[in-house]
Amino acid sequence: MSIQITGHTRLGGLLGSPVSHSLSPLMHNETFQLLGIDWIYLCFDTGQAELKNLVQGFREMNVFGFNITMPDKERIMEHLDGFSEAAAMIGAVNTVKNEDGRLIGHNTDGIGYMRSAAEQGYDIHSGPMTLLGAGGAASSIAVQAALDGVPVLHIVNRKGRSWNHAQKIVDLINRNTFCRADLTDSADQRALGRCLEESTLLTNATSVGMAPVTDVSPISDVSMFHPGLTVSDIIYNPGRTKLLNDAKQAGCRTFNGMYMLLHQGAAAFQIWTGLEMPVEKIREKYFTV
Ligand code: NAP
Repeated sequence: MSIQITGHTRLGGLLGSPVSHSLSPLMHNETFQLLGIDWIYLCFDTGQAELKNLVQGFREMNVFGFNITMPDKERIMEHLDGFSEAAAMIGAVNTVKNEDGRLIGHNTDGIGYMRSAAEQGYDIHSGPMTLLGAGGAASSIAVQAALDGVPVLHIVNRKGRSWNHAQKIVDLINRNTFCRADLTDSADQRALGRCLEESTLLTNATSVGMAPVTDVSPISDVSMFHPGLTVSDIIYNPGRTKLLNDAKQAGCRTFNGMYMLLHQGAAAFQIWTGLEMPVEKIREKYFTV
């Protein structure tokens, strides 16, 4: 892929640290080329830099927008001018659009996950969903699942860093959507078993099983799996986690986080441009699993 930079080329990109491994520049620059959009997308490692100054620099350069990844998804919020409904509920932003000088924050992680689940044939109205985790990605998925119409959501996390935040998300969902949400301590294995027994979808949004520590699973009792349960992991490195291997052996349908990554990018592209990303072309070139 060769990119032509002109005197009109507009800038956007990805803020966070680390960012050099990201597939986002490939996905977005390829799409700009395919659709004849004179924009460019670069990675900016925030490292020790002042986020406030970086955002001010972006404002001055009139960027079209940008993405934000760990560890800045929450910290970015105080530097923005407004938020989508989902981003405000989640309390984290991964996509910013420049709307005539106003920087508006969105969160497309949950949209990406829900689209990937639909693509795998999962019907969100088919039953309750159990979500493991309460960090940034899990919060985004929880809110989007509720907004999309999942009827019952069991959030399961250890009692620790994210517990109070998870309780806040549960309250927000119960107050603002038709979804009934609750929170379970992952140490309570009987309660976890009850959640899974009635669920049709299990989503691992913890980092348990992610490289380099791949021989662990957030579900240690494999008898909790049943064939009516679709099991998904938002981890994509490794492509098949221990959770997915155990679940497949128990007869469950499974999918990983690769296409969530693709669809969160497609949703960001749509927010910036109002256009559809040619997802199949991008999938074929950069997301073959
Ligand atoms: P995060 O905000 O740090 O949240 C991590 C979550 O995992 C928290 O709920 C945390 O619980 C839990 N956790 C971590 N270590 C644990 C352990 N040893 N035992 C039990 N729970 C543990 O991270 P994040 O941004 O949400 O990312 C989570 C995972 O999703 C990562 O693997 C990331 O690569 C992946 N991800 C994938 C995509 C995609 O597009 N596919 C997008 C975003 C993230 P505590 O809060 O109690 O520590």
